Amino acid sequence: MVKVISPAVEILTPLDGEAILKHLELCARNCYKSEDKITSDSARKMVKKLIELGHEAMIEHFSVTVRLTTDIGVLKDLSRHRIASFAVESTRYCLYSKDKFGNELTVMEPPELEKGSEDYDVWLQGMEAMEKAYMDLANRGYKADVCRTLLPHGLKVEMIMTANIREWRHIFKLRCAMAAHPTVRQVMRMLHQKMKEQIPVVFDDITY
Ligand SMILES: Cc1cc2nc3c(=O)[nH]c(=O)nc-3n(C[C@H](O)[C@H](O)[C@H](O)COP(=O)(O)OP(=O)(O)OC[C@H]3O[C@@H](n4cnc5c(N)ncnc54)[C@H](O)[C@@H]3O)c2cc1C
Repeated sequence: MVKVISPAVEILTPLDGEAILKHLELCARNCYKSEDKITSDSARKMVKKLIELGHEAMIEHFSVTVRLTTDIGVLKDLSRHRIASFAVESTRYCLYSKDKFGNELTVMEPPELEKGSEDYDVWLQGMEAMEKAYMDLANRGYKADVCRTLLPHGLKVEMIMTANIREWRHIFKLRCAMAAHPTVRQVMRMLHQKMKEQIPVVFDDITY
């Protein structure tokens, strides 16, 4: 039986929001040689100003690594972002017929289909047919390289992604917007909320 799960986001980089702002402030003040203007509460104002002025090169000086549990479709979209680094669960090296994967395929709940509806059942039957074909090939001795040609966009993938704050802002603007694919939007909005809670100022102006 195919396992169906919901998306998850986890920030792997330890974050101290105030320390990050102070670090960005220090980098920016090097441009103006105004380090003497640093006070206990100057960082927030400085970073807000940098963003307002579009001097975003300064906010490249801190990177955040995250782990996303999402699907192959989201991986395809997010890996188009060139100023980011990735480590992705491999469908070449993971053979899902093995015990450590529960001898099953895991897929992501489709956000636009209502669980229990007829339409959802059509989707689920498609997934199960594909899983059966995958397991049949694996049982005939085929490697993951061959079996993976059957795998759908909805397959679960764990991806680790690192980007600097400027690039995360860019990604959130594009991928939290209504024009983004629903599964990408879902996971990026979850991540945006988490990052916004942990790092003040830098993600506050991104709304949707
Ligand atoms: C709604 C939506 C629909 C899409 N549909 C399609 C589609 O149908 N087909 C398709 O192929 N892609 C599609 N994409 C992906 C899109 O074309 C981009 O590849 C992706 O959004 C990465 O964005 P980016 O190039 O702005 O940013 P990144 O790669 O994240 O780069 C960040 C910024 O750095 C700068 N930069 C990076 N590389 C260069 C460079 N070589 N030269 C100059 N400046 C650079 C740019 O300012 C860029 O905005 C879609 C994206 C969205 C959001």
